[in-house]
Amino acid sequence: MTAVESAMTVRLWGVRGSFPVPGTETAKYGGNTSCIEVTADGLPTVVFDCGTGARKLGPTLFARAQREVHVVFTHFHMDHLFGFPFFAPIFAPSFEITVTAPAFHPDGTRDRIARFLNGIFHPVRMTEVPAKVQFAAVRPGQTFFCGPWQLKAASLNHPGGSCAYRIERNGRAAVYVTDTAPLSRPGEGIAGGLDPNGRELQIIDLFRNADVVIFDTMFSLNEYLEKMTWGHSYPEYAYALCKAAGVKKLLLFHHAPDASDADLDVLAAAWSTATEPQVELAREGMEIVL
Ligand SMILES: [Zn+2]
Ligand SMILES: [Zn+2]
Repeated sequence: MTAVESAMTVRLWGVRGSFPVPGTETAKYGGNTSCIEVTADGLPTVVFDCGTGARKLGPTLFARAQREVHVVFTHFHMDHLFGFPFFAPIFAPSFEITVTAPAFHPDGTRDRIARFLNGIFHPVRMTEVPAKVQFAAVRPGQTFFCGPWQLKAASLNHPGGSCAYRIERNGRAAVYVTDTAPLSRPGEGIAGGLDPNGRELQIIDLFRNADVVIFDTMFSLNEYLEKMTWGHSYPEYAYALCKAAGVKKLLLFHHAPDASDADLDVLAAAWSTATEPQVELAREGMEIVL
């Protein structure tokens, strides 16, 4: 046994928002869309969202003894779902996969995925998937379990809805927060430098003392003000929430498809001196050991 046993490892397989953008201009931060893996020795793997990043994650799971995998969706916009039929474990009968999403009933989770895997938008139908797949539903505010992992869900501000998730083990916690616009209007709540409103208090509660928060900051403040109904946030807002919650590290996430590596380097430099919390840009291939 090692002297310091890590509670969990968080790996980023896709950090791009809205649309995959391969190419030389995005090689550093990565062009694949949302996919986050959380692991711990001997425990089932938890995967948050199956954007295009899920394609490369899939084969790595065959190297582990563990055949239980939990896939947890924030919502079903295509940039978070497109990698699911390319996620190799679903084609292996030895894998037991539980798919959880915000819904009122497990059938709601299954039906929404089955609308995509229906033989028209993808050749494989959900009913033909070889792995043992079961479905689960989660509502905002609920604490729930993925095998031995404890998670908590909170609602976000996004067209059609989206859920944030806190996952914790042995006193360490990571929170995954995408997609979302600010929970207060400009000039109000924490966005206005005032006391947090009710919805912000719920999110601050979810973030409380987390080791890392991964947050949708696709826009700058000015872009957000032009596109307030699009359901995405900006770095200053994420920072204010994390600061109020005592978060240790903030990862800016769901980068805009148009943001080049050079653009993101400028953003990273601007935030490099922040300390409460520390701020880094999410980068494909990044691994955080908690
Ligand atoms: Zn998205
Ligand atoms: Zn979305």
